[in-house]
Amino acid sequence: MRKKIVAGNWKMNKTAQEAFVLATEVAELVKSSVSADVQVIMSTPALYLTGVNQVIEGIPNLAVAAQNCHEKASGAYTGEISAPMLASAGVQYVILGHSERRQYFAETNEQLAAKTDAALANGLTPLFCCGESLETREGADFLGHVAQQLTESLFHLSAEEFSKVVIAYEPIWAIGTGLTASSDQAQEMHAFLRAHIAKKYGQSVADSISILYGGSCNAKNAKELFACPDVDGGLIGGASLVAADFITIATSY
Ligand code: 13P
Repeated sequence: MRKKIVAGNWKMNKTAQEAFVLATEVAELVKSSVSADVQVIMSTPALYLTGVNQVIEGIPNLAVAAQNCHEKASGAYTGEISAPMLASAGVQYVILGHSERRQYFAETNEQLAAKTDAALANGLTPLFCCGESLETREGADFLGHVAQQLTESLFHLSAEEFSKVVIAYEPIWAIGTGLTASSDQAQEMHAFLRAHIAKKYGQSVADSISILYGGSCNAKNAKELFACPDVDGGLIGGASLVAADFITIATSY
C-alpha cells in the first residue's frame, strides 16, 4: 500500500500571526476529520517551521516541510538554510525542485541531485517536484522531458535511498492558473513515471513510491484526481491557504 499524502505548499504567504491561525485550524481539522492513513503536511515559510511544529505536536499524521534546502551542510551562503539545520529543528520533509525555484532561482537537475543527497543524508524526506512547461507539453516528448528530470536528479540513488523519496508531478501550466490537468492527463503522466522508475529500480520499488499531483488542485477537483490509480495525493498551493479547503482535499479519498 502506498502512502497517501496531501501536502500544502504555502509558498511566500502569511504573516507570523496568520500562519499560527492557519496551522491551528488545520491541526484541529486533521484531528477531527482526516483519516489516520493520510499523511498531511504543511510546507510553511522557513521562518515558521519550528513554531508550526509546536502547534501540531502529538498529531501523528501531520508534519511540516521546508520549501527548499541548500546542498551544502554549512558555510558562507548568506540567506540559505541547510538540511542538517532543518533536521536539527525537527523538520521531516523538504520540497525540492519546485518549478518556481527552477524558474526564478535557476535550480538545475544537477543541483537538485545534490540537494536530494543532502536531504536524504540528514534523514529528511524529499518531496521532489517535476513537471513540464506549456511549450514542452505542446511538443512531441513532454513525457520524456519529465522522466529526464527524475533520471538526472534521482537515478544516481541506491534503491534503498530512492524508496524514501516522494515525487510530486506539477505541470507548470497548471500551477496557479486554475487550469488543472484532467484526471486522464495526470494518470497518464503518473503511470509513465512509475514505469520509468520500474525500469531503473524494479516494479516493487516503483509500486511503493507515492506520486502526488500538483497544479490548481482544489476542494472541487481533488476527488476525481485522487481516484486515479497512480495518483497518491496532492501538493496543494492556493487551496492550502484556507484550512477548510485544504482539509476537504485531505478527505477527498
Ligand atoms: P496551486 O495549487 O496554487 O496551483 O499551486 C500548486 C503548487 O505549485 C504546489 O506546489
